[in-house]
Amino acid sequence: MGHTFDELRAIVGDRGLISSAEELHTYECDGLTNFRVMPRAVVLPNTTEQVQAVVRICHRERMPFVARGSGTGLSGGALPVENGIVISLARMNRILEVDFPNARVVVEPGVINLDVTGRVSPQDYFYAPDPSSQSICSIGGNVAENSGGAHCLKYGFTTTHVLGLEVVLPDGSLVHFGGKTLDAPGYDLAGVFVGSEGTLGVATKIILRIVKRPECVRTLLAAFPSTNEAGAAVSDIIAEGMLPAAIEMMDNLAIQAAEAAVHANYPNCGGLLLVELDGPVAEVDALMTEVKKICSSNGAPEIRVAQSDAERALVWKGRKAAFAAMGRISPNYIVQDGVIPRTALPQVMSEIERLSQAGGLRVANVFHAGDGNLHPLVLYDRRIAGQEEAAEALSSQILELCIAAGVAPSTHCSFRIPRKSFQLLASVAKSPVNTCRTRPNPQGSRNVIDPRRWTPQLNPKRAACIRRCATNSWRLWEMRMCMRRLPRMPWPEFSRSW
Ligand SMILES: Cc1cc2nc3c(=O)[nH]c(=O)nc-3n(C[C@H](O)[C@H](O)[C@H](O)COP(=O)(O)OP(=O)(O)OC[C@H]3O[C@@H](n4cnc5c(N)ncnc54)[C@H](O)[C@@H]3O)c2cc1C
Repeated sequence: MGHTFDELRAIVGDRGLISSAEELHTYECDGLTNFRVMPRAVVLPNTTEQVQAVVRICHRERMPFVARGSGTGLSGGALPVENGIVISLARMNRILEVDFPNARVVVEPGVINLDVTGRVSPQDYFYAPDPSSQSICSIGGNVAENSGGAHCLKYGFTTTHVLGLEVVLPDGSLVHFGGKTLDAPGYDLAGVFVGSEGTLGVATKIILRIVKRPECVRTLLAAFPSTNEAGAAVSDIIAEGMLPAAIEMMDNLAIQAAEAAVHANYPNCGGLLLVELDGPVAEVDALMTEVKKICSSNGAPEIRVAQSDAERALVWKGRKAAFAAMGRISPNYIVQDGVIPRTALPQVMSEIERLSQAGGLRVANVFHAGDGNLHPLVLYDRRIAGQEEAAEALSSQILELCIAAGVAPSTHCSFRIPRKSFQLLASVAKSPVNTCRTRPNPQGSRNVIDPRRWTPQLNPKRAACIRRCATNSWRLWEMRMCMRRLPRMPWPEFSRSW
């Protein structure tokens, strides 16, 4: 290993290689802190060429690696592999090109999400996908997780905003997917890469779409007695045919935590709805009147509209701080992530409350309500014997509930970790997720990107599409590494430049 370390050091320099135990602790987990593995080393490349050189060594030595952005992932995607290394993209944090006429930005993967908007906002543009972690998470991590956020209800998830990718494949070769134009010819391989959780390669450059700021933005807060009434209001708003920029919901525990952390001046209520409308002034005014009526008719005693940009920013600061703020009311928590039909919200919320009481643990709830995306946070104290296990059990029951309600876990519920979730999911016969299985690498495989991976077994339509796209080339090998169910067919020829 000493010789390999020397080689890695020669590529990234002394300061680009971390191998001391104290420093490695920072990298032993991501946001899913109850899984920890100490990596052998962390490498911090500065350029695509350095990433390629490092990956080639991993490939030659059969040394597994995981890519890491900011390490905020909640599904263990950046969890190191035993005896493997971490390739941190944190130093590749340059915004390489801003093209306003075409509304495109080219970034390196370590660029922080909010910095993209920071760079383009003077020209009245913004980068739409806004995970609550946007002030710290990286674009590379967003791409790998297909991250969403409050405003993805209207603007779409990360995949809608990624037009092209430069990717280092597991053998160190470089390929380009997509490009600067919309609807590039050929198969949507950038679309395949987005959401693949770092299992197909390392993104080293990303072409993003930016969006012009709407003429007007208004944010409403409606306080309901409970999340049931708030959930009913969400269904009514969407049923009216409106598409707000965001509809978010918080229950009382989440409100308490956010208030303690950022003093957002939220009403103290059982269910708080934040509804944001944007567009031309006349349209927003008309829709806001409708939304207020719907909230009142569903029993909201208090409705306010933020009166200034500063007030609006504070409202969002509270919502976005809600996860991190849980530390104010509980030493530990497990966050679950499920998507259910919006109409099932009241029923699922009542059931979560029942499970919480039966399990003797508090559950705080924060939702992207417009998408029916729940984030139940099971609060516990690891120092109390048995609580961690009880929290995991409760958390699984909640996920089971979401599946029974008709849909699936969302992308945070990684196909890599936590495995327990997927064992649970695989046992639920009707779930779309039973298409996921573990596929350990065969002996001798050189698939060095996180060999613990859970590989999605594609549904027949998607598999057929990929099979079609794989008909005329030579790079079958990596594709089969990742999608072993596909028949032996050649990999498509990738373009070598944009
Ligand atoms: C308080 C809090 C709030 C959050 N809110 C949201 C939310 O609203 N919406 C949401 O979607 N997520 C949310 N998350 C989860 C997380 O922030 C996102 O998944 C984010 O995209 C992860 O980015 P990262 O840079 O931290 O990636 P990491 O955690 O470092 O990595 C995530 C995955 O990306 C892979 N990866 C990283 N860089 C690359 C690369 N260059 N090439 C290939 N693969 C790569 C890693 O291998 C790993 O699989 C939240 C997390 C926290 C802690």
